[in-house]
Amino acid sequence: MGQVIDKTYNGLKVPEGETIKFENGRPVTPNKPIIPFIEGDGTGRDIWKASKLVFDAAVEKAYGGKRSVAWFEVFAGEKANNEFKEWLPKETLDALKEFGVGIKGPLTTPVGGGIRSLNVTLRQVFDLYACVRPVRYFQGVPSPVVAPEKLDVVIYRENTEDVYAGIEFPASSPEAKKLIEVLHSIAPEKHIRPDAGIGIKPVSKTGSQRLIRRAIQYAIEHKKPSVTLMHKGNIMKFTEGAFRDWGYQLAAEEFANQTISEEKIWDEHDGKVPAGKVLIKDRIADSMFQQILTRPDEYSVIATTNLNGDYLSDACAAQVGGLGIAPGANIGDNCAIFEATHGTAPKYADKDVINPGSVILSGVLMFEYLGWQEAADRIIQGFAKTIQQKKVTYDLERLMSGATKVKTSEFAKHIIENMG
Ligand code: NAP
Repeated sequence: MGQVIDKTYNGLKVPEGETIKFENGRPVTPNKPIIPFIEGDGTGRDIWKASKLVFDAAVEKAYGGKRSVAWFEVFAGEKANNEFKEWLPKETLDALKEFGVGIKGPLTTPVGGGIRSLNVTLRQVFDLYACVRPVRYFQGVPSPVVAPEKLDVVIYRENTEDVYAGIEFPASSPEAKKLIEVLHSIAPEKHIRPDAGIGIKPVSKTGSQRLIRRAIQYAIEHKKPSVTLMHKGNIMKFTEGAFRDWGYQLAAEEFANQTISEEKIWDEHDGKVPAGKVLIKDRIADSMFQQILTRPDEYSVIATTNLNGDYLSDACAAQVGGLGIAPGANIGDNCAIFEATHGTAPKYADKDVINPGSVILSGVLMFEYLGWQEAADRIIQGFAKTIQQKKVTYDLERLMSGATKVKTSEFAKHIIENMG
């Protein structure tokens, strides 16, 4: 199985395996894909060891040797800087480009020295425009709400535009002054104070629709009931409001047979969604934050602009008590990187105590993305059962009554035993 690719990256030989190809922005997964991994800094080392055990066991149990992953280490962060005197070596980017799908632990963001965040750089280099954050409850995890199990959403957050695009100029700078001048000349009725800092919020049709397309495709493929377009279009009509309009337009043009808008179900179907159709609806951002608390089971896939998505992802994760175990992915048309959403928690590094849940569940997301649903299901089964048995790492143990504190490596072993 696999083929020999006679190449090295960062001095390491590529393992025997096959390259994942992309067709129409989707991966075509061979039986032995080569998947680059970045171990991550600090606790990343403990987390990766545990996660790899879980991933390999799930694939073995699901496919009995017919499929396997050829893991290939690539370097970024402190480890790369120590070995190659670079935080993000070019050969790491080359390997990710060649093999397409990667998974990473948390990376230290170097402070000062003009080094950009490595995570942001990866997103920009590979145009990873969809930030995907599934949020669901695992029975037994302490939560601040009464019925956390009612929340089960997948948030598709646009990753490249909005005020996050970083187009910002400080108050009184020549750039800010110039922009104020231009704005006053084209809209004299809008007064901007001369000492205002200026940030720009671009939201394009292209950027919005490619994100919403992925969200709708995901909902159709995973038989999810609805896609909600979350926006603040009542105030920002040509950015947030346009995001909503472009979403409805896309659904009508490209997914007319598989989707139906909320307006139509009231006009034509007495408020009921016809069988097999995904409901497309929209909610204003502030109301979304209320509803996700008061009526969480009415939401499933949520597509939104960058800043809204940032806030909503963490608010939802907090609701199920899972900030420390929340998985994430950044997906583009030719590359996808799955990652921990927490940082490197350096004080726990190499102590075998940290919770590896975020990377393990990011692996679930990765296997689903690759079409290896059976492996993903095994991990979820093992993970959920281990939490139910209250065998958990320190962070959850301190919040759960009657729980047994286990090490990172032991947690992984229990997940594997519980896979069935
Ligand atoms: P952090 O590493 O997320 O850690 C903050 C606290 O969160 C930890 O002390 C720990 O709390 C808890 N925590 C984080 N991960 C955990 C896990 N897997 N299991 C259990 N508890 C966990 O945040 P930080 O200290 O602000 O950042 C440290 C470094 O990480 C910085 O260099 C930062 O730039 C980087 N960072 C990277 C990413 C990324 O790569 N995606 C994201 C955020 C930050 P307790 O001490 O209360 O147990």
